[in-house]
Amino acid sequence: MFEKVLIANRGEIALRIQRACREMGIRTVAVHSTADETAMHVRLADESICIGPPAAKDSYLSVPAILTAAAISNADAIHPGYGFLSENASFATMVEEHGFTFIGPKPEHISLMGDKIAAKQAVKEAGIPVVPGSDGAVDDIDVALKVASGIGYPVLVKATAGGGGRGMKLANSADELPDAIKMAQKEAEAAFGNGEVYFEKYLTKPRHIEIQILADGFGNVVHLGERDCSLQRRHQKLLEEAPSPALNEDTRQKIGAIAAEAVKKIGYRSAGTIEFLYEDGEFYFIEMNTRLQVEHPITEMITGLDIVREMVRIAAGAPLGYEQDDVRFSGHAIECRINAEHPGTFMPSPGTIGDYHAPGGLGVRVDSAIYSGYVVPPHYDSMIAKLIVHGANRNECLMRLRRSLAEYVIDGIETSIPLHQKLMSEVDFVNGDYDIHWLEKFVGLDD
Ligand code: ADP
Repeated sequence: MFEKVLIANRGEIALRIQRACREMGIRTVAVHSTADETAMHVRLADESICIGPPAAKDSYLSVPAILTAAAISNADAIHPGYGFLSENASFATMVEEHGFTFIGPKPEHISLMGDKIAAKQAVKEAGIPVVPGSDGAVDDIDVALKVASGIGYPVLVKATAGGGGRGMKLANSADELPDAIKMAQKEAEAAFGNGEVYFEKYLTKPRHIEIQILADGFGNVVHLGERDCSLQRRHQKLLEEAPSPALNEDTRQKIGAIAAEAVKKIGYRSAGTIEFLYEDGEFYFIEMNTRLQVEHPITEMITGLDIVREMVRIAAGAPLGYEQDDVRFSGHAIECRINAEHPGTFMPSPGTIGDYHAPGGLGVRVDSAIYSGYVVPPHYDSMIAKLIVHGANRNECLMRLRRSLAEYVIDGIETSIPLHQKLMSEVDFVNGDYDIHWLEKFVGLDD
């Protein structure tokens, strides 16, 4: 096992990884920008190293700074968390070339899944259903028009190198397709330096359902069930739940087994997530995330497994040590992302936190790195906490979530807590009756 792990991240996820390492008897090295000198992930680490100025490109995204920090601190391994360098295949390669272990998948799988056309092709060959589409990059408008009319409109033009919902354009008819392609190409070129686009059928009322996978690289693969992440605004998740209110046991086991089998065929190693859209009883692959997800705790709450610990064990060469039948599901869990932002406009709200009181009690978990007096910097993602609640069933979970949200005090800045509170009494939400477009309609962002 490793003796020392460097955590190439900040905020709640850096703390989350630190906690797993500490329980495993592994020392941790925090890295931080000058804006994060007093951050909790720095204060609680065994060692910390400043890696640059506030801008992420000069600190948390600086490969030379992070590799130097790992060398100076004599770390054995690097955990990238999520975001930042977590899905950067050349970073993963360089980590290994410099003699450290990358706590994550093999670089070849990060690259494969980072190219959405190649990813779609690879999972299709491995038996996963995909959204009908152009089956490759669009390079000829006449061919595109022909294929699109075969699939039926609307179609969604997407960037091969896409991420964060950028480079996507909707075409409602053949008249709109040429422009949608041109606009998506331009946006993709600007955002990713790669203007290649493809298109697929636009699903009008799907749910976003993803399957958590653990694979040890020796052919042992398990799935940890699904998460329903349909509550999104601007393609970003706000609340996630497990299990999904839309799936029954049979469907859950079927899609879980398909996902696990595909991951095995590909030869994947580490934690990973296969994302699907689910509409009218059918699953359609959209992408695979080759990293730890923000919403991993809800899966931990219903399975009792520590996903970060599993990632560390797998990276150290340990076999999973259990099989699919050993994975037991219990109860229901929901995560509310608490962002430093206006609950109605979603405008960021950085600043100093005044009084702070986190909820607690049976079944309540708060993953956060904030405290009273903490200054939320304007340079990074606005998510400052995750409130995760577990109950014996969905009703108990909702009841517990309502009382936890009411207990939560974060003074001095605007947060998404009031929005979550409003959601808790919405009939559709309470009934589990929502799709990926529901939240935007609810908050009035759809016009
Ligand atoms: P990104 O990598 O940019 O996040 P994804 O392919 O994961 O892109 O899609 C992000 C979100 O966009 C999905 O969760 C869903 O809300 C929407 N989306 C993607 N593909 C489709 C589609 N074919 N039909 C309808 N919505 C889609």
